Amino acid sequence: MNLMYHSTRNKSIKVTASQAILQGLSPDGGLFVPETIPQLSKSVEELAGMNYRELAYEVLSKFLTDYSEEELKDCINKAYDDKFDTPEIAPLKKVGKMNYLELFHGATIAFKDMALSILPHLLTKAARKNNINDDIVILTATSGDTGKAALAGFADVKGTKIIVFYPKDGVSRVQEKQMVTQKGDNTYVIGIKGNFDDAQTGVKKIFNDTDLKEKMEKAGYRFSSANSINIGRLVPQIVYYIYAYMEIYKRNELKSGEKINFVVPTGNFGNILAAYYAKKMGLPIDKLICASNDNKVLYDFFSTGVYDRNREFFLTISPSMDILVSSNLERLIYHISGEDTQKTAELMQALNNGGRYEISTDMRTNLKDFCGGYATIEETKKAIYEVYKETGYVMDTHTAVAAAVYEKYFKNDIDPAMTVIVSTASPYKFSESVLEALGIENIPEDDYEQAKLLREVSKVPIPGAVEELNNAKIRHTRVCKVGEMKAQVENILKII
Ligand SMILES: *Cc1c(COP(=O)(O)O)cnc(C)c1O
Repeated sequence: MNLMYHSTRNKSIKVTASQAILQGLSPDGGLFVPETIPQLSKSVEELAGMNYRELAYEVLSKFLTDYSEEELKDCINKAYDDKFDTPEIAPLKKVGKMNYLELFHGATIAFKDMALSILPHLLTKAARKNNINDDIVILTATSGDTGKAALAGFADVKGTKIIVFYPKDGVSRVQEKQMVTQKGDNTYVIGIKGNFDDAQTGVKKIFNDTDLKEKMEKAGYRFSSANSINIGRLVPQIVYYIYAYMEIYKRNELKSGEKINFVVPTGNFGNILAAYYAKKMGLPIDKLICASNDNKVLYDFFSTGVYDRNREFFLTISPSMDILVSSNLERLIYHISGEDTQKTAELMQALNNGGRYEISTDMRTNLKDFCGGYATIEETKKAIYEVYKETGYVMDTHTAVAAAVYEKYFKNDIDPAMTVIVSTASPYKFSESVLEALGIENIPEDDYEQAKLLREVSKVPIPGAVEELNNAKIRHTRVCKVGEMKAQVENILKII
């Protein structure tokens, strides 16, 4: 029997795992959720004996049941290979008493690689499985990180093309450089003269353009999406939570069944939701600590039961968490409502209409697995400085939000040895802010010079992803107006 997926807003919209991956979003606007959460069936001893790839197979085979063993293993082997700079894939570093789960050893040195290196393979296999012979065209609007990780994941994957639109003057220099130097004959990067919202709106319009869809079908193409609500991104993220637990277990620091906590720097709520699924599978987890920056809409939600996006938006030094609508929270709402699709649909409608909703007392009781916390820019910088001073370990600005939240709320109550800080980016991705936080003066302007300085301070080698940028050839120079996005797509696909 296959595990089926249905919409968070309607149980009768039901699909297989591969169809959910192909579609991304349910046609009614809801997100796909599994009908039941599979349970871990192997003992801790057995799981602790597995390497990352074996553990990935253990998890993926339970959720993605319409893929064969051979298909899943092929996806896993292609994803978690030497694109990662360590065979551990997701190393757990012990620094002082605290554990850091480093999810930034992939191609673009941020945690998005954990899922975006496997999604292209899951997607192409899903197409074949559902008798779709069209080439898949991934369209993405990005504010910086997702675009690069998706480009790296889909580069040279047979049967796919990827087109990324980014705001020409709205991303950091490193982020732009990472994108415009992307290799791969199937990759296209276009700067638009507008902001991220323009890019996002333009992409949505292209997705819904029926005239274009017809032309695409005739030419043998179909659009798909790589954004973080795709179940094909969520499931691979469950793996590293189990992996982290087993690493602590292997150090003989856990009694049988003893629980640990995770602190997760959160934006769109995808990463921490995967931890919640790991807990529901039976992994001994106590608290899931949701760490926000100044855009603390989630902290307010966990403390009051009210989600309200009507507020000032702040640009912080942890830009990947600068977000006011956390899309994946819809899945948590569905679970804490007692899997009530009608209630979920109502609340999401309220969010859509007025930007606000309030959950019931019963639903709040079901939030007991979570705690929320937030850290300001100053607190985040202080965490980078103090951890470095005490231990020599240098964190990036997103990880530092999590570390600051632990320090601010939990250090007296929660044992650091039993707590894992989820580390979502390499400090080299945000060198300038990190150097500033470390109190270093006269920071050079050039990003490679900044990296060299960070190497001196952190004693960590410069990652390949940053070395490559230094002499990388610019391969993408397309720039267009917002109104020309569709024409760009037609030109790329030669369907004019
Ligand atoms: C995307 C991202 C996050 C937020 O993860 P969500 O799954 O969106 O909550 C945190 N840190 C970094 C570096 C990221 O790129």
